[in-house]
Amino acid sequence: MGPSTPGLPAEAAAWLAEHARAVWREALPGKDPECGSGLFRTLRAGLVRPFDAVPSQLSALGANHELWLATEGAGSLQRRKLALSGLTDRFARILVSAEVGCSKGDPGFAQALLRLLDTADRTVCLVIGDSARTDLALASHGSWPALHICDPAACAVDEPGVRHGRGIADAAKWCGC
Ligand SMILES: [Zn+2]
Repeated sequence: MGPSTPGLPAEAAAWLAEHARAVWREALPGKDPECGSGLFRTLRAGLVRPFDAVPSQLSALGANHELWLATEGAGSLQRRKLALSGLTDRFARILVSAEVGCSKGDPGFAQALLRLLDTADRTVCLVIGDSARTDLALASHGSWPALHICDPAACAVDEPGVRHGRGIADAAKWCGC
């Protein structure tokens, strides 16, 4: 397997490496499993890219907002995906659940965010996300307005302070800035 993932506990990294070797031994019998795994990782990394409209939509939002990103997962993995997508520089702050110590949907995440907002002398204009369980819960815990990315015609979420739209382009309609 290629380079280990920074930030992963050694035991988890070793398990993942062995899992990859086992998968590639089965997928390509008689071939070098390290080679298959490495090629796959390289090809996959090259395919990580944002949806076409996202960079320009973030630029539009970022023209009059400071953008912060809250993301769910392991720090090293989330930061790597973001870097591969070329979007890291779009965000003034990146909060990863594993680094914060709890899920985006837990009250503790909103409390940690509130402390950072205080320090940075910032307020939340709008929380944008597609997950009711994490993104809308974060907005609710912080008492912030939210834009739920969904199919508005079919969405079953009905919560105060939550608007619905098909993409982040809809944020400009609601933020009032
Ligand atoms: Zn919705």
